[in-house]
Amino acid sequence: MKRVCVNCEDQNDMQAFSGETHTVEFRGASAVVKNLSGFRCPSCGEVEFDEESAERYAEAGDALVMAARAEAGSELRRIRRKLGLNQVEASRLTGGGHNAFSRYETGKVTPTPAVINLFRLLDRHPEEVDRLKRA
Ligand SMILES: [Zn+2]
Repeated sequence: MKRVCVNCEDQNDMQAFSGETHTVEFRGASAVVKNLSGFRCPSCGEVEFDEESAERYAEAGDALVMAARAEAGSELRRIRRKLGLNQVEASRLTGGGHNAFSRYETGKVTPTPAVINLFRLLDRHPEEVDRLKRA
């Protein structure tokens, strides 16, 4: 049976592969997933994993996201406490709703790079938080 690539117009028959190692990346972290199999388009390189491989690849990606959230959450909590802010005050500075910081710190939501970058700057220049609170 012909497996047509859904990514390009070439209507190519996708070619089976197996035993490949792929790397999943998320925000500078990566995980290696071995022994993956599926099909690849000879024109555009689009890959379609088989069910079991797709599941393992997705799980590896999810684990990276969860690890990044946990790390960002504990970093934000440390800096927020250093700045003498409660979670509501920190949420007011960054937007995203009054309980945004609670969700970041408990790892329920991934903070945007803008939030992380602002707090890293404040970590280095904590005196600037007073200027923001007045604004
Ligand atoms: Zn293609």
